[in-house]
Amino acid sequence: MPTLSFIQPSPWNVVLLGLAIVTLLCMSTGMVMLAHERILRRMEKLATIDELTGALTRRAFMERANALLGVVRARGDPLSIAILDIDKFKAVNDSSGHAVGDRLLAQVSSAVSGRLRACELFGRLGGEEFAVLFAHADKDDTLRMTNELRIAVERSSTDGVSCTLSAGVDGIGAHDTLESAIVRADDALYVAKASGRNRVTMAARTNVAGAVCVAEPRRPESA
Ligand code: GH3
Ligand code: MG
Ligand code: MG
Repeated sequence: MPTLSFIQPSPWNVVLLGLAIVTLLCMSTGMVMLAHERILRRMEKLATIDELTGALTRRAFMERANALLGVVRARGDPLSIAILDIDKFKAVNDSSGHAVGDRLLAQVSSAVSGRLRACELFGRLGGEEFAVLFAHADKDDTLRMTNELRIAVERSSTDGVSCTLSAGVDGIGAHDTLESAIVRADDALYVAKASGRNRVTMAARTNVAGAVCVAEPRRPESA
């Protein structure tokens, strides 16, 4: 009787070949799905976390802050917002170079985020400007906590370079949108800058670093 080889078209060989093809198809489909999943996760991370600073991206911050706003309001707890901006940051880039500027940005971000509680949201709004949403904190608590962040940043450094930040804070009222509260905190930041920087100012209140200043709403350029 002739011996069968693997290349002869016997029923067993056809079955084995079929199984091999199905196995290969399953394996390659699985690998494509795995790669797809990884790419999706990476894209999601890029859209959510700012690569340089580890803070939430602006879009992710706004989305999460709006969601948190709903939850915290429903419980009747206070909420406040702080807008932080590094002082004279352009001068750091100009004198020490962009790479040091990048590392200082990351350092500032880590000094701030390291002092926040899990219930607080920290985002990079753009450039050297950040926002913190303080849940369960009224504006006086927020003023105090933001000033602690300011001090932490003032004390930190990288590559022998340090910086300060200015901040504007305000509470988020029952009829506020996140955007309207941000505008007022931004106006307060503007006053902190105008009155000497390295300070925290509350909208229409006293600033913690010393000088008394009131954050009047900024008028549109044309007004
Ligand atoms: P002020 O105290 O008024 O805020 O002064 P400033 O110099 O911080 O503000 P200005 O808006 O004049 O300059 C901001 C600078 O921040 C300019 C820009 O090059 C720098 N910057 C923004 N994003 C980055 C970044 O990702 N990396 C680095 N290295 N620099 C950045
Ligand atoms: Mg700045
Ligand atoms: Mg700025």
